[in-house]
Amino acid sequence: MLRPAISKINRSFWIPSLLLLISSFLSAQTKPTLDDTQLSQHHTVRNSRTINKVIIHTIEGSYRGAIRYFQMNRSRVSAHYCISEKGELTQCVLDKNIAWHAGNWSYNETSIGIEHEGYAGRSSTWTHDAMLRKSAELTRYLCLKYNIPMDRQHIIGHVEVPNQSHWDPGPHFPWNYYMTLVRQGSTATPVPTATNPTGPDVIETTASWLNVRTGIWGTRLSSIPRGSRFVRLESQRGWARINWRGRTAWLSEKYVRSVSGTTVHTVTTSKLNVRKGPSTRRSRIGHVRRGQKYVEIRPSGSWSKFWYSSVPGWFHGSYTHTENSR
Ligand SMILES: [Zn+2]
Repeated sequence: MLRPAISKINRSFWIPSLLLLISSFLSAQTKPTLDDTQLSQHHTVRNSRTINKVIIHTIEGSYRGAIRYFQMNRSRVSAHYCISEKGELTQCVLDKNIAWHAGNWSYNETSIGIEHEGYAGRSSTWTHDAMLRKSAELTRYLCLKYNIPMDRQHIIGHVEVPNQSHWDPGPHFPWNYYMTLVRQGSTATPVPTATNPTGPDVIETTASWLNVRTGIWGTRLSSIPRGSRFVRLESQRGWARINWRGRTAWLSEKYVRSVSGTTVHTVTTSKLNVRKGPSTRRSRIGHVRRGQKYVEIRPSGSWSKFWYSSVPGWFHGSYTHTENSR
């Protein structure tokens, strides 16, 4: 770069710089008050780094649990900040250092990770306004401090990080509301969150045969063919809970993708027979229970063919409530 002669560093340089300085004083806000600092040893030290993203996570558990977990030798994970439902804020990794949260090294290197108490699969997680507001206040502060654009290309969910298997903060995270809070700061008034997609979250299996288990890494119950569809009831540590053959079961989310626009049945009677075909004369192969959710393959009169287990089943539609997946 050419070094300008001293005499040329006059108005053309100083006036814009002065304006920039004044405007950054006006727009900068102070760091949200930390309730605690509990530094995790799981991080990579940097003297300085480029920070150009904020990544939103859910803990899949409690605030205190996450802070504790980040300090355990075996965990090998961390995030810069944890926020509780009440809006408490703890720093676990300093901003200048790389936390291990994104499951993708180049994203880890250039981001700040914020963990939120609760679960990606539960809409109730985001009814805690104090948490959302504290989080947005923090994100706004980080954006102003590190010059991160306040848009959805730079403020992203863990789910949007490529080449990793997590889906947090999940389908219920109120992005529109959150981004309004980030952009407008504490002056923002709440906006309805109804603009977010609603309805059951349907997943389809992508492995040729995928194991169905009793829990996360639980006993294998069976395996289901590629293209099977189930409602994801919740997500934990990369596993999806589903209704399968009248019970609850779990699938690894490494081998599923989301599908939209399918019909989902919720069983409204205590015990509903499942048959081999669309008639009470066809043999009974099992039953499903009240509250369980299954994905329709196709209807036939008042009967519905649905993903029951490794083989499809049929039930009578007068004992279910239907809705469209998101
Ligand atoms: Zn995450």
